[in-house]
Amino acid sequence: MTQSEPASSPVTHSEFAPDTIVVETGRPQRADGAAVNPPIDLSSTFVSAGDISESPYVYARFDTPAWTPFEEALGQLEHSALPGLVFGSGLAAISAVISLVPAGGTLIIPTHAYQGALASAEQIAERQAFDLVTVDISDTEAVIAALDEAGRATADRATAEGTAASASAGAAGSRGMLWIESPTNPMLEVADVPALTAAAKDRGFLVSVDNTFATPLLQTPLDLGADIVVHSVTKYLAGHSDVVLGAIVTGNAGLREDLRTERSMRGGIAGPFEVWLALRGLRTLAVRLDRAQANAQAIAERLAAHPAVIETRYPGLPNDPGHARAAAQMNGFGAIISFTVESADRATAIAEAVRLWTPATSLGGVESLLERRRRHPSEPATVPEGLIRLSVGIENLDDLWADLETALA
Ligand SMILES: *Cc1c(COP(=O)(O)O)cnc(C)c1O
Repeated sequence: MTQSEPASSPVTHSEFAPDTIVVETGRPQRADGAAVNPPIDLSSTFVSAGDISESPYVYARFDTPAWTPFEEALGQLEHSALPGLVFGSGLAAISAVISLVPAGGTLIIPTHAYQGALASAEQIAERQAFDLVTVDISDTEAVIAALDEAGRATADRATAEGTAASASAGAAGSRGMLWIESPTNPMLEVADVPALTAAAKDRGFLVSVDNTFATPLLQTPLDLGADIVVHSVTKYLAGHSDVVLGAIVTGNAGLREDLRTERSMRGGIAGPFEVWLALRGLRTLAVRLDRAQANAQAIAERLAAHPAVIETRYPGLPNDPGHARAAAQMNGFGAIISFTVESADRATAIAEAVRLWTPATSLGGVESLLERRRRHPSEPATVPEGLIRLSVGIENLDDLWADLETALA
């Protein structure tokens, strides 16, 4: 095959389990002497003489074989018939999705959504003249009430302006969008994803889910009724804290085309090497997650029993408010924990005392990280001052616990 033909993998999600797909998908076609891994394709332009719609690749800001294997892998993992779309960062992907909310519509977003998503939403809402409403995403009745109210407001505006606000599938005809993050960052609240997607669709809203914490191995939002899934690939998918990258997956061809246009026109695209590293990282996602989750479960149980800890949030704890929902809609509880100690100073002292855990922002890498979230001025004020977020890695459990226990004392 030539380099500019799409890598077409023989591995599909209907045939193989996800932990096989992460290893086998997105590889070059099998032939004697063929490479096992795709190349890092560094061409900015591709041979095409005639009608550009007939060429798989034309120019690398629109599409490049450097993205194709990873995009195919993501599409399969998220159970879409269409490949994903890779973006230069998770926030670039989020901003592209939020840009679909029509003027006069409403974006409903969790109070404790990733703070970058909230900040981006505020800016785009102002420029594009749509309403922004924040909700407790774990409170299903409150979210449905917000959808009802937003639907009425949009209908009133449409009547006043003589425009049609219909419940069609495309972004332009929607009343707006429900943004779901579950579990939320950093509060670990769990949304009732199937109930919320059904309620939003009934009322003419698109639904997008930030699936960064769960990964497609633990949760497939398109199966739960979502229209769009976004990822910060920077985190678990790439998995080694050496790449910043984002992605979107949708099963709706019209939405995918709108989002692809958004990517081409804004132009902040992903580099070939970053995408290659992300595919390389994806190969070990299943084993990394298994180990990190087992470590997280044990650490959450020990934190919950520790006298210096006021509250521990981890959906894998049987008495966690999100436990039953997470057990129903996820295949595992992930490896992010948040716990609260009595004050900001106490939390900072813990971050300064650890020797094995790395005090740093971000999450989802093989190494364990921790951070007092309110040190970011942009973090919502409802996140406790003494809250520490743990990203549990794949080190030895006893080493991790010994270090944390010493820092807690
Ligand atoms: C980190 C993160 C993002 C932003 O992704 P970047 O790759 O840093 O741009 C979005 N959502 C969640 C849940 C995150 O943790």
